[in-house]
Amino acid sequence: MSDDATPKTKSPLAGLNLTFLEPAEGPQTAPAAPPRQTSGTSVDAHVVIVGSGPAGLTAAIYAARANLQPVVIGGIVGGGQLMITSDVENYPGFPDGVQGPELMGFFRAQAERFGARIVDADVDRVELGSRPFRLWAEGVEYRAQAVIVATGAEAIWLGIESETRLRGRGVSACATCDGFFFRDKEIAVVGGGDSALEEALYLTRFASKVHLIHRRDAFRGSKIMQDRAATHPKVELHLNRTIEEVLGADHVEALRLGKTDEPGEERLAIQGLFVAIGHRPNVAVFRDWLEMDEKGYLRNGGATTASNIDGVFVAGDVDDHRYRQAVTAAGEGCRAAIDAERWLEAREAEAEKTEAGAVTVR
Ligand code: NAP
Repeated sequence: MSDDATPKTKSPLAGLNLTFLEPAEGPQTAPAAPPRQTSGTSVDAHVVIVGSGPAGLTAAIYAARANLQPVVIGGIVGGGQLMITSDVENYPGFPDGVQGPELMGFFRAQAERFGARIVDADVDRVELGSRPFRLWAEGVEYRAQAVIVATGAEAIWLGIESETRLRGRGVSACATCDGFFFRDKEIAVVGGGDSALEEALYLTRFASKVHLIHRRDAFRGSKIMQDRAATHPKVELHLNRTIEEVLGADHVEALRLGKTDEPGEERLAIQGLFVAIGHRPNVAVFRDWLEMDEKGYLRNGGATTASNIDGVFVAGDVDDHRYRQAVTAAGEGCRAAIDAERWLEAREAEAEKTEAGAVTVR
């Protein structure tokens, strides 16, 4: 099993049987992909997009179609959270649902079709104090006139020692990655939001029984998911319970549960634990530059996707702890690309005006 929520597939396209449409004639035909940059080199771009989830790749589609030839620094493991999501039933346009990785494969193919260049690397440093903005990934420097930050969010862990010790030995944060390993086994999911409800239901495909553990007496997930979980014959709810310890020497054997509604503890024998208690925005390299809210999510202008730095835009789960949906992230990616395009146009017009003024004076 995987040792964390990280999918092991490097590319969202890997292993997918996709049918690519012939690109149409005309300006939207993709230019030949430039050769891969080696360490020590630099790349100049109108727009650099950081992140390759729904927000980043939608921004890439729009920026590429606006002829901005975007470079997407998509992360070593690209595709965002949908890469670890099984059935996506609420993304419009897929009446029968679609698998998360398959959907991200479509996003990526569409962005590349219009000429977006996607680099499978992590950004490790940025300098956003002056333009061109500078970003470094795997030793290559990227210089950009505008930047779109769409780095998403990642799974939060309980933070207890036994959870860390048994990660990859029965403890996981990715049902899609690891559910298969628990065929006919009894397992637990912790959390009370949509992620926990969704993972618990998904895991019923494999497990003989799924114990859903939540620290309060009410779930915060959607009503329809709550109803599905509560009525599923393989799901057993454990409300007002906290996980004090994951028991087992080298693999998960049981949980020691605390009670929040009465004194005492109990032991629950299980063979796997899936942690689904929310996500944290991926802001690390931007922390010194971009403003964040009290929860650590990046701030944007509200009416637009502009950040506190002129020319830097933010989109997707990295700035959104309210909606956090693939479709809202994609929508914000679209807005960010349009904002960046208009901002670049306005700067260009300003520069032309200044140049014309200078000629008149002479
Ligand atoms: P969430 O809504 O923030 O829920 C996190 C859950 O984990 C809460 O129930 C919280 O308990 C519990 N929790 C947090 N820290 C904990 C800890 N240390 N120990 C035990 N429990 C802890 O996160 P989410 O479920 O990942 O959902 C995030 C957003 O994505 C939501 O807006 C959700 O609707 C959306 N989403 C949608 C879908 C879908 O539509 N298919 C699927 C997944 C997620 P409390 O309730 O007590 O705070």
